[in-house]
Amino acid sequence: MREKKWIDCPVCGSKKSMRVRKNLRERVHHPDYPPLDIDGLDGQFCDVCDDGFWSLKSERKIERLLAEHMAKHDSMRVVAAEIASVQEAADAMQITVQGVHKMMGEGRLKFVYAAGRRLPIREDVAAKAKKSDRLLGSTSKSGT
Ligand SMILES: [Zn+2]
Repeated sequence: MREKKWIDCPVCGSKKSMRVRKNLRERVHHPDYPPLDIDGLDGQFCDVCDDGFWSLKSERKIERLLAEHMAKHDSMRVVAAEIASVQEAADAMQITVQGVHKMMGEGRLKFVYAAGRRLPIREDVAAKAKKSDRLLGSTSKSGT
């Protein structure tokens, strides 16, 4: 996906008010977790209303760091029964073990840290597995 260059603000409607801002710090709030500060972000923001968009790279960075942040926090409260092994997750979602690690790394699958390793959360594996069932349909998927 290509980055869109904003000129007019789509939020407040001001003309030519969008500017690139670099090296920003953002405090990310999530209802169930303590706030997380992320540095070195960039994006395009409106000089008038201050609303705007993160760059795709920054958006991915936020997702990745937020997932890690949530995982560290969840590690203290999630019980063993709620955690799946990476192999179990791979089988359930019909993807490779590497694919499971990739999803966790990109923040697309919830996980916790257990003994320094990332382990997927069973509930999220089940949700993702259901989704891929629908996508796969009747024919089995052989690679991408
Ligand atoms: Zn604006």
